Amino acid sequence: MIFRQLFDHTSYTYTYLIADRTGGEALIIDPVLEQADRYLRLINELDLHLVLSVDTHIHADHITALGALRESTDCITAMGQMTRAECVSVTFNEGDALRVGSLRLNTLYTPGHTEDSYSFVMPDRVFTGDTLLIRGTGRTDFQNGDPAAQYDSLFNKLLKLPPSVLVYPAHDYNGMTVSTIGEEKQHNPRLQVTGEKAYLDMMNSLKLDDPRLMDVAVPANRECGLKRAA
Ligand code: FE
Repeated sequence: MIFRQLFDHTSYTYTYLIADRTGGEALIIDPVLEQADRYLRLINELDLHLVLSVDTHIHADHITALGALRESTDCITAMGQMTRAECVSVTFNEGDALRVGSLRLNTLYTPGHTEDSYSFVMPDRVFTGDTLLIRGTGRTDFQNGDPAAQYDSLFNKLLKLPPSVLVYPAHDYNGMTVSTIGEEKQHNPRLQVTGEKAYLDMMNSLKLDDPRLMDVAVPANRECGLKRAA
């Protein structure tokens, strides 16, 4: 498998490029608009054909490259059915598989950070978006975020995956690149709660500033990043 983890320094976003073989079809997860040329160059250098671009959720901190990549490669753009981004070519339901070459990513609906958050599961790894971060979890205080939904997504879905499964989040602010389900269960401070109520109390007591780009990024991302908000 060809697998590349790419980083956007401005928004601390991880983007993932995945393909089963050189010369094959590729998928990109959570691409950032400002990095679109870099992705296209790499896809070309690795002799890949981009067929699918997908966002884990509507981001509030950067503008997506979904629309730009669709325009330059004719790839399909996809998000989960709960998305409000009507610009995507297709939407998927939980349990639908994203297929690229011989690869298959199962979709898991993991709301909480936003109501449209999905995770993508492969046998040895999971792309958790902002639902599960390394030693953290995504904030739940905007975009119809819901700490109770996030508790359910974490404890009844993601943490039920085998402990050896690698965790690849959509962001990291501390320089960590990958973790495992088992490692997060044991060491993620947000997961050491006694139950749902304790999780809600913890998340509701966080006082976070809005992301700098939120008022621009959310409306722009509903248009797949093709139109900037007025
Ligand atoms: Fe997010």
